Amino acid sequence: MLSGFAGSGKGTIMKELLARYPEEYALSVSTTTRQPRPGEAEGREYFFKTTKEFEQMIAEDALLEYARYVDNYYGTPRAYVEEQLQSSRNVILEIEIQGALLIKEKFPDTLLLFVTPPSAAVLRDRLVGRGTETPEVVHSRLSRAIEEADGCEAYDYLVINDDLDTCVEDVHRIICSERNRMRHRLSEIEKIKHDLKQLVKGEQL
Ligand code: 5GP
Repeated sequence: MLSGFAGSGKGTIMKELLARYPEEYALSVSTTTRQPRPGEAEGREYFFKTTKEFEQMIAEDALLEYARYVDNYYGTPRAYVEEQLQSSRNVILEIEIQGALLIKEKFPDTLLLFVTPPSAAVLRDRLVGRGTETPEVVHSRLSRAIEEADGCEAYDYLVINDDLDTCVEDVHRIICSERNRMRHRLSEIEKIKHDLKQLVKGEQL
């Protein structure tokens, strides 16, 4: 799970990860009631819904988690994530902190990464420079960022997005290392032990 301040570049990092390692990652596309930004496409950045449609999804338990963020709903559709978890791909969710902590409760093995720009001034400049947000929205996102930083201690890693290329490789390396944790690899060791025993007995593999 990738969270971080609005304007930290999470979206760009994920797109880049998928472009570089398409076989290794599956991206969960969230659903939201916010308006599409210019250039965003239905089903690519988000599934855009009305509040009524979103509340219907909540009622049908079709969301793994959802949260309100700056006057809009955001949620993770359950079906895609559950389907991808059956494959060997790393499923990436780019969601805010409240939702991330809910998912961590449901899936304790989830890895939590928090992305930040190098400084508050860079964060403000990126939000303003995006040119798609009103000054009021920029203001509420900066205020929200203060709250988001409060929950960071629950996260596993901090990633600083100064140079995009370095940051993408950092994220990839962290995820690869996590997958190599012994508790995720025990079945492979068991297989090797099993085969070794056969070899010791003089049996063919
Ligand atoms: P934005 O409007 O900038 O695309 O996203 C606003 C915030 O909502 C970001 O922090 C983003 O990570 C978060 N977000 C996006 N999708 C989801 C989701 O499915 N669930 C939750 N809880 N947060 C989400």
